[in-house]
Amino acid sequence: MSDDKVRIGGPVYERNAYKKIEIFNKWMEIKGIKNECPECRGKQFSLMGKDDASTVLTVDNKVEFYATYSLACANCGYIKSFVASMIEEGIKQEESGEHE
Ligand SMILES: [Zn+2]
Repeated sequence: MSDDKVRIGGPVYERNAYKKIEIFNKWMEIKGIKNECPECRGKQFSLMGKDDASTVLTVDNKVEFYATYSLACANCGYIKSFVASMIEEGIKQEESGEHE
């Protein structure tokens, strides 16, 4: 696996996490997202959340939250997050040939 791909965090086989990584790597390719840490220039990120658990971004009204693809830099711990629905809808549109 080359350095421009996101890797799994732990040693345990996590099927859904691999699926998410596959989706996120596709999104990186579509949008030209660089796999480089803006803080330390590290080139290895790990997807956060074990197996089918998802990371979320919460807001303070206690009912609203957004599923995310959150990735941690393996070198310095910097976290970056992407809105999951934008990734998943964006890939669907890309695959059906609807470009913006
Ligand atoms: Zn870093």
